[in-house]
Order: sequence, then C-alpha cells, then structure tokens
Amino acid sequence: MAAYRCPGCGYLYDEARGAAREGFPPGTAWADIPEDWACPDCAVRDKIDFDELEVTR
Ligand SMILES: [Zn+2]
Repeated sequence: MAAYRCPGCGYLYDEARGAAREGFPPGTAWADIPEDWACPDCAVRDKIDFDELEVTR
C-alpha cells in the first residue's frame, strides 16, 4: 500500500492506517477516497494535490 502527503502542511495519509477521524478505516485505498476530499489539517490542499510516497514494508 502507499502513502500520500499533503504538500502544504505535511499531513500524511497512509492507506494501511486509514484516517479514523475522517471516516476512512484502515486499508482504505487512495482510490476510494472522494475526489473532493480536502486535507483535514490545513483544508487548503485537495486530494489531487497530494504527493504519493514510496512505502516499503
Ligand atoms: Zn494539508
């Protein structure tokens, strides 16, 4: 699974961890997150702005 980082504030969304406070359980794929979802920390950047990170486990 991959992780995605907000270029504005550094908030990290990890697919394996999900984001409980956003209503995304662990394992929620990036593709399943609504296209209009905005960064929960800065609310400035949208999903499309996030940078994909390489995650090795
Ligand atoms: Zn942000």
